[in-house]
Amino acid sequence: MTQHDDVREVIIIGGGPAGYTAALYSARAGLNPLVIEGVTWGGQLMITSDVENYPGYPDGVMGPTMMTDFRRQAERFGTEFVTDEVTKVDFSERPFRVWVEKDEYRAKSVIVATGASARWLGLESEQRLQGRGVSACATCDGAFFRDKPIVVIGGGDSAFEEALFLTRFGTKVTLVNRRSEFRASQIMVERAKAHEKLELLTPYTVEEILGDTSVTGVRVKHADTGETLDLEAAGFFVAIGHDPNTKLFVDQLDHDENGYLVTKPGSTATNIAGVFAVGDVQDHTYRQAITAAGSGCMGALDAERWLAEHEGPEHEG
Ligand code: NDP
Repeated sequence: MTQHDDVREVIIIGGGPAGYTAALYSARAGLNPLVIEGVTWGGQLMITSDVENYPGYPDGVMGPTMMTDFRRQAERFGTEFVTDEVTKVDFSERPFRVWVEKDEYRAKSVIVATGASARWLGLESEQRLQGRGVSACATCDGAFFRDKPIVVIGGGDSAFEEALFLTRFGTKVTLVNRRSEFRASQIMVERAKAHEKLELLTPYTVEEILGDTSVTGVRVKHADTGETLDLEAAGFFVAIGHDPNTKLFVDQLDHDENGYLVTKPGSTATNIAGVFAVGDVQDHTYRQAITAAGSGCMGALDAERWLAEHEGPEHEG
């Protein structure tokens, strides 16, 4: 067990747009932040291709490039990083305590920015064939399916973005959605409909992913008639939304029925004074890099103000 002696002003848990923006602002405010950023730092943008809607990049930017820039900008003002996973937290008394395995860190304030993770369908075949044709990341794995048929599941912007990206590789891309209506924005749906390699198949659910050692096809079932259909596929991409990464916090911080942390309206404050939540971990509505970054900024300002108001030994413990 290693207890780090110093009590930090602020620890930020999570290294995505929200966490790095919180770090940038708190570093510039002289709070010497520590970001525990996870092993695969960068968050969901690390598995995104072109980001076309982040203001300031008129020609678009690759997600990993943007996150490397975010991180560098936070680092420039003195942010320190631990590239590992938080394994436990204790917010029951101050200073708050955060563990990375046997390393214990302490801080007067904590900003939770752990984001959300891709959801899976939960089929046995999906788990068995993961890395063998089943993927949740078109940017990472798309190139493996050059000149092969691909199936994408989902009807939101993520599914359409992945399907459009995958047309660069596949002979044909079939987007399968469980409803005939799509959640995705009109522009994405229109782009997909106009694409000669892309087919939209609705309303179908996935029965099974076919293949013994690698994906050979997908059995889908019509949501109304129950009729089944076998689609040929070498790649199977799941893009059905996300769940918040809140397992570490749900016994200590208020959350909604889906596990998203609840913050006070117009603020990033949680139910525990001195603990703040920013980005996708507390936002299931907007979930954009720009809104996550904005929320990270709010968290840093809230933490800074809170520290200024609560500084002093009489408030410790
Ligand atoms: P969404 O929640 O928007 O969409 C999820 C999709 O998956 C829905 O079509 C949903 O169907 C379907 N789905 C959910 N669970 C299952 C299941 N178990 N089986 C089958 N289908 C399922 O998630 P996204 O990740 O697409 O998008 C999240 C947010 O990020 C959105 O706000 C989106 O606009 C944004 N985004 C923006 C992008 C951009 O602007 N470039 C790119 C990517 C995302 P149903 O509708 O029936 O619930």
